[in-house]
Amino acid sequence: MTNAGLLDLWTEPQERECLGCYVSRLLADFGCDSTLRWMRRWRAMRAPGVAALDRLFRRHDVKCDCGVPAALGAAARSDAPAALGAAACSGAPPPCAGVRRGSTRPCSMWGRPPDAPGGARGSPT
Ligand SMILES: [Zn+2]
Ligand SMILES: [Zn+2]
Repeated sequence: MTNAGLLDLWTEPQERECLGCYVSRLLADFGCDSTLRWMRRWRAMRAPGVAALDRLFRRHDVKCDCGVPAALGAAARSDAPAALGAAACSGAPPPCAGVRRGSTRPCSMWGRPPDAPGGARGSPT
């Protein structure tokens, strides 16, 4: 398999992975190239033709993937950026809680009340 093929596989959004988690994950692994490349990739595969995303990011003056989670309302919690930074440093971002396929909203990982029990997963205390 070529490197490009591997990259393709690696950067494919996971089943039910939300835009906020996807962009965070790819930023942690590959960084930002000052464009919206990960947002565009997610949208092409998960929500093609959703023009509302373009309007949303224009309204928030988002020029690159770094601003995507915040524009989605995903980083509303003041501790979110620090938590994400720590996660990036220690390896993997937290796993995505999942959204309906085609939904452009961030999942419950992003400071919204979880809509299902099982939030204790990942806290060993
Ligand atoms: Zn950036
Ligand atoms: Zn998510």
